[in-house]
Amino acid sequence: MVPSPPMLNLRCVCVCWAVALSYGLLTAPLIFAASPAEPLNIVVTIPVLKDLTEQVGGPYVHVTSLLSGYENEHTYSPKPSDLVAVRKARLLFKVGIGLEVWAVSLVKNAGNLSLLVVTTSKGVALLQDVAHDDAAHGGEEGERGNPHIWMDPENAMVMLQHITDALIAVDPAHATEYRANQAAYLRKLAQLRGELTERVARLADRRFIAHHPAWPYLARRFGLQIIGTIQPQSGGEPSALQLHGLIAAIKKDRIKVVVSEVQLSQRFPGLLAKETGVQVVVLTTLPGGLPHTETYLDMLRYNVLQLAHALEGP
Ligand SMILES: [Zn+2]
Repeated sequence: MVPSPPMLNLRCVCVCWAVALSYGLLTAPLIFAASPAEPLNIVVTIPVLKDLTEQVGGPYVHVTSLLSGYENEHTYSPKPSDLVAVRKARLLFKVGIGLEVWAVSLVKNAGNLSLLVVTTSKGVALLQDVAHDDAAHGGEEGERGNPHIWMDPENAMVMLQHITDALIAVDPAHATEYRANQAAYLRKLAQLRGELTERVARLADRRFIAHHPAWPYLARRFGLQIIGTIQPQSGGEPSALQLHGLIAAIKKDRIKVVVSEVQLSQRFPGLLAKETGVQVVVLTTLPGGLPHTETYLDMLRYNVLQLAHALEGP
């Protein structure tokens, strides 16, 4: 039993509320206590988490994604409105593995004591590719590895489980709906995964060069092969020597495709195309980054089908 608070002077309460309102410091418990029927306020770092949360949460969640899909998830810097969103949220879903280094101070500055931060990568077997274990991904949780786990639908299933568990933990009244939505989504995901696996299996050549190392999980799941990566280990720009190495490899091994991302500069992929005639296919690692990629399933379909199409090119 929670002891009842001592009687407060009414005028003091009013003044406190006015002060809190004027500074925008209303905390989540007050908001939730006032309106229990409102959807859960949830903040996520990247759009893939927004989509997965909405798939499970349906009408019981209101999800704000800090990134919209057009920004680079590594170099994002939070806006003042992000701080407001985190202050109002009951849950914050992030990937972890050092992807959202910028989110740590955001959560700290928000000072929201009722906020539950959930790392959705827990339990995922991480790939330790050298090219991506760099300064841009210094894992704040001590986890090291490539953070682009959601590119493999199997890992998305793990993330979905974390999301479902957290929703049930803070809103047990809708546990049945959350579990049913999760099951329905898993069926759709399994069907798409089957279709895409068949599509890739028909390809004679499954090799490509990646601009930024966002693709090893997807490549492993669908049997694709990454021959080289433009972005060097230190992050930033490749050296002339590295570019020459890639140009030589493309020519020698007859590599037909460079996979770039809409969130990145197309300067170096363009340079490789000019030197070798290789085709640059621009994909997205964040839903919403390109037309026809609004949901995670749409994005997965778009990326694999566009890549397959390019690999079949002349
Ligand atoms: Zn990355």
